[in-house]
Amino acid sequence: MSGANSISEALELQNQLTQMLSSAGLVLRKWASNCNELLNSIDSDMRLSTTSLNIDNDDTVKTLDNQFHLFGFSDASEKAYAAAIYCRSVSDTGKINVQLITAKTRVAPLKPVSLPRLELCGALLLVKLMDFTCKALNYPVSQAQFYTDSTIVLSWVGSHASRWKTFVANRVAKIQTLSSATQWHHISGNANPADLATRDSSVPSLKDSVPEERYCTFQSTIVPNHLPDGNDLLHKFSSLSKLKRVISYCLRFVNNCKNSKGKTIGFLKTNELNNAMYVLIKLVQTIEFNNEINALKRNQPLSSRSKILSLNPFLDHSNILRGGGGRLRHANLAYGHKHPILLPKRHILTDLIIRHYHEILFHACTQLVQSCIQEQYWIIGARDVIRHLIRKCVKCCKVKASIINQMMSDLPSSHISPAPAFMRCGVDYEMLVLFKLKSLKVVVPNPLKHT
Ligand SMILES: [Zn+2]
Repeated sequence: MSGANSISEALELQNQLTQMLSSAGLVLRKWASNCNELLNSIDSDMRLSTTSLNIDNDDTVKTLDNQFHLFGFSDASEKAYAAAIYCRSVSDTGKINVQLITAKTRVAPLKPVSLPRLELCGALLLVKLMDFTCKALNYPVSQAQFYTDSTIVLSWVGSHASRWKTFVANRVAKIQTLSSATQWHHISGNANPADLATRDSSVPSLKDSVPEERYCTFQSTIVPNHLPDGNDLLHKFSSLSKLKRVISYCLRFVNNCKNSKGKTIGFLKTNELNNAMYVLIKLVQTIEFNNEINALKRNQPLSSRSKILSLNPFLDHSNILRGGGGRLRHANLAYGHKHPILLPKRHILTDLIIRHYHEILFHACTQLVQSCIQEQYWIIGARDVIRHLIRKCVKCCKVKASIINQMMSDLPSSHISPAPAFMRCGVDYEMLVLFKLKSLKVVVPNPLKHT
């Protein structure tokens, strides 16, 4: 910010400043002035779109564009690991500008370290650099996006740190405190701009490959592969009925948003709860039996390695995968019993359904739970998984706990030594004596307290 006594003086000052900074590669934009004449002599692209500057006003002129987002990239090679942060800004005129803000490279340790671990070091370097940059720009870290080309790092970051060994666990814990798993995305190796910083490049090769441009062409194809999926939601509930109710309320909210006239209010209805259950089942089936569902939709035969091939599966009218029913097709049974809904062996929804049935049947045994579940669902390897879950039921464990019996003391010698009759006589303390009171047979403790 500066001033001058005349317009020509101000123009000269503006020219000198522009030339001086452009020699260092810095382009000055957003020129503002309280003199329209001066502003007219500056390119419209370089001017701030607002009207003339009023010095008396409290208005501030934003030096950065209206909207900007930070994107971080990390990469590693056997020689080095690196992190780069780019800023994507949209100007008032809608022009998109992508620029490198900062980058950092570290040489790989001399001690041989596996490439995924180096990639993890790169990811840690990136979150630290992003934290620093966000603090400097007063930008929320939670809105920054992180990209890496290592799927192993993504799975490490997506799980709890305690699952991994010390080296990985320490770094994952640090990454998770500075960022969340949903901010991490995959980018293919050749689109990763941080790749350039991990290898030795000659000046001519740098001239040919401009990472900013490379990213610009690829940014539309980057699809975050770590969006929170349905599985994450299911893991938040330990009861099937609660999960169903939460999903029902979510579905009701969506429906009410779509039909503002006929809104549903009040208690949840049975059809809403059933609908929520179908939504959950479809979600699980799409994840677990994706290949089978795709083959059935295309009317193709199932793979010979499919686990549900023997169950003769088919898709019903609402696209739910059901078992063919074996030889019970002509039996006088309900549709759901003849054609049960297929569920995978290891899935949180399967566990919730088994626990639900076990509880509503008053902690019944494996056989009863299995036969009741099979009236609606067919769980692959049901017997093992039901038995496993019942064995973990705390209430059942408490009830089935064996009662501890005390060791009986030794018998007195007079009881076990042969002797003539009535050689020794005695009366037991507290022995029960039976006697008749009117027509009732009553048992009372012996009141005698002597031998
Ligand atoms: Zn139980």
